[in-house]
Amino acid sequence: LWQRCLRRLEGELNAEDLHTWLVPLQPQQSGSGELLLYAANVYVAERVQKHFLERIQELLQALSGSPVVVRLKVGQRPSDEPEAAESRSSGGERLPPIESNLDARYTFDNFVEGKSNELGKAAALQVALKPGEVYNPLLLYGGTGLGKTHLLLAAGHVMKQNRPGMRVVYMRSERFVSEMIRALRSNRMDEFKRQFRSVDALLIDDIQFFAGKDRTQEEFFHTFNALFEGKQQIVLTCDRYPKEVEGLEPRLKSRFGWGLNVAIEPPDFETRVSILLSKAQAMELTLPDDVAFLIAKRMRSNVRELEGALNTLSARANLSGRAITLEFAQEALRDHLSVQERLVSIPNIQKTVADYFGLRHGDLVSKRRQRSVVRPRQMAMTLAKELTEHSLPEIGEAFARDHTTVLHACRVVRKLVETDGRAREDWDKLIRSLTS
Ligand code: ADP
Ligand code: MG
Repeated sequence: LWQRCLRRLEGELNAEDLHTWLVPLQPQQSGSGELLLYAANVYVAERVQKHFLERIQELLQALSGSPVVVRLKVGQRPSDEPEAAESRSSGGERLPPIESNLDARYTFDNFVEGKSNELGKAAALQVALKPGEVYNPLLLYGGTGLGKTHLLLAAGHVMKQNRPGMRVVYMRSERFVSEMIRALRSNRMDEFKRQFRSVDALLIDDIQFFAGKDRTQEEFFHTFNALFEGKQQIVLTCDRYPKEVEGLEPRLKSRFGWGLNVAIEPPDFETRVSILLSKAQAMELTLPDDVAFLIAKRMRSNVRELEGALNTLSARANLSGRAITLEFAQEALRDHLSVQERLVSIPNIQKTVADYFGLRHGDLVSKRRQRSVVRPRQMAMTLAKELTEHSLPEIGEAFARDHTTVLHACRVVRKLVETDGRAREDWDKLIRSLTS
């Protein structure tokens, strides 16, 4: 009956609509006068429902001579074909269904927005509201602890909230790898493929982990293509710009670029303060502004560390029954703050900058005036000014210069970073490697 109905529709619809939306539907007769149509995902189901269902009902009724109720379902038609039944019962272990794994603690509401992450947040929200329609794939990239996973999960919730039937799957990339290996070992690759290709939205976290894993990339590539073609939403995160991940196949990199790639940057001072205040409030912790400023000033690299500091403060305050004052915080957070300081010291900056530009440490403190040495030296001085608490004379001394030279270097570098893309890139990379 369904086949006859399709043939009739062939005469009424354009070929593209027919083949995109209707031909792939899997019919199943259910009880008297009811026909179930299985659609691969919710978009297809919605689309068919909206544009074609009425006509389908009419045609079926005309063809069969009695009223037919058509119901759309999402998923695979439960199969009773011998072949499928057999492949399922042989070979032992069955693949457990993939779960959606959405941790409810991470939402857009408790994500604090700032210049560093507003684009990422906006893109994630867009995609969540219109999955499969705006950016596919959406890829968020940036250093650890900057909120990528948070946004990924938040997007997953909104999708599920707005479309309860939607199958949204969040998975760390390690999990994808191990699931695939398990499927390979137990001869379940077909099932694996089917499972992943039938989700409505696939959220994969930290795809840099795929680097060097050829079989996984191969499989992910095909999954990606199938989802992309089905207009099923793909959202990915990566700890750096995907083109920079070594060991990731070029064809995957190029596909990641089909949608939108958004950088999540380390939060600036004001954003760090609002994050601290908002988390403190959620923890019911009374956090005076000057303490928030202290922490935000000293801990620059990532949000997870800010949370760590708050947890320590809260625990110490509870144990001692004391109020959180500046002195109390300085004492309670001594370890947190000194780790940061040790990490970003002038010698450390000098070493990192020298390595980055392929110079020797001695070059930075030498009298050499070649441009190839002067620029890196100026950058190192500026980094010292920005990332440590040292005064201009102290920094000057560390570079065998006086404080006016340091001041001049800071001006030059700030200007350069604003106007020169190459310098900006160097600067960002240096900051990142020094602070994360
Ligand atoms: P990433 O995946 O980039 O390594 P996460 O998403 O795991 O980072 O974030 C680390 C922690 O910091 C999480 O607990 C997250 O909730 C929190 N966090 C990060 N950015 C923000 C933000 N803008 N507002 C609120 N919390 C944030
Ligand atoms: Mg993460």
